Amino acid sequence: MTMNVKSYAAQSPTDDLAPYRFDRRAPRNDDVVIDILYCGVCHSDLHTARNDWGWSTYPIVPGHEIVGRVISVGPDVTRYKVGDQVGVGCLVDSCGHCSPCEHGHEQHCLEGLIGTYGGTDRIDGTTTQGGYSEKIVVKQEFVLRIPDGLDLKGAAPLLCAGITTWSPLKNANVGPGSKVAIVGLGGLGHMGIKLAKALGAEVSLFTRSPGKEADAHRLGADHVVLSTDESQMAAVAGQFDLIVDTVPYVHDTNPYIPTLAYKGSLVLVGYLGPLEPPLNSMPMVIGGKSVAGSLIGGIPATQQMLDFCGKHGITSDIEIIRMQDINAAYERMLKSDVKYRFVIDMASLKEAA
Ligand code: NAP
Ligand code: ZN
Repeated sequence: MTMNVKSYAAQSPTDDLAPYRFDRRAPRNDDVVIDILYCGVCHSDLHTARNDWGWSTYPIVPGHEIVGRVISVGPDVTRYKVGDQVGVGCLVDSCGHCSPCEHGHEQHCLEGLIGTYGGTDRIDGTTTQGGYSEKIVVKQEFVLRIPDGLDLKGAAPLLCAGITTWSPLKNANVGPGSKVAIVGLGGLGHMGIKLAKALGAEVSLFTRSPGKEADAHRLGADHVVLSTDESQMAAVAGQFDLIVDTVPYVHDTNPYIPTLAYKGSLVLVGYLGPLEPPLNSMPMVIGGKSVAGSLIGGIPATQQMLDFCGKHGITSDIEIIRMQDINAAYERMLKSDVKYRFVIDMASLKEAA
């Protein structure tokens, strides 16, 4: 049986998000049905609602930082039972047999990852819809376990902001002795600082916003560099093994290259598109440095990150909002006016039409 659920959806790139009802697909034998308690608000939700990347379909229900409780399971489900606290991140399916999938990198599935929203279900061809809704149906392999003891509200952003910053840190084998810098103190950036610090690195923040220093130190940054100040940038020349750049919009990446150490890399996770001004290859070639990109993380890495956060008591710094406040939250996120992630209390959706 399909399930009719309440949600908030964008109907076009220019419409505010508004109440929307739709049918969740009938659960299959290997599906878990989750009652959504909290959903984080990622900048990707905003990019998608407003079609910044040009691939959005409408109506679209955003939300891929989902935490909730299992309310039913299909007969083939072995990993979860009713009552378990679980999460769903940015992907809900993949082919399962290509090389990236076989290695647990489902986000790079060669047949295309199935996104939590705006994806096409591999079996029935319906469009997937995200976590700004009452319930979600997900096959068990794409459901994550939230460790006991973690605050569920603060754990929601781990499902995207957490794993997206965890992946480049782990791929670079960050640990004690590593020097890591994060560009941008937003949802991803603040998780990057917390995770890098917990892995044992010396952590710096590049920010364009004076006034974030105290928060950055509280979150775990050892140093704060104002990226608009040339003398502060010059003072960190040749320092970083890894820079994770979370800035969502086009920006000049050239000033960060001299701050990389030999063999260091700048990993872009925010902006998608041509760099402007163009990236000068000279300092990379001469200095043996690289620029790369990274996309969320696979299911095994996401569970590893959640377990690490459970062990170290790491959650996101959040501001709880009602579903009805989502449009104002988007405007505030555009002004970087959030410390440091909005999380929707889904109980508020019960009051919606
Ligand atoms: P966010 O909370 O809005 O934070 C972005 C931060 O970037 C801001 O707090 C600000 O930090 C800085 N910033 C914003 N606009 C800027 C500009 N025009 N120039 C320079 N700096 C700017 O966003 P988020 O949720 O962390 O997401 C960041 C980006 O990552 C988005 O584009 C999102 O779509 C993308 N994303 C990618 C992945 C992936 O898998 N690769 C996953 C999730 C999200 P300061 O004030 O400190 O400078
Ligand atoms: Zn996200």
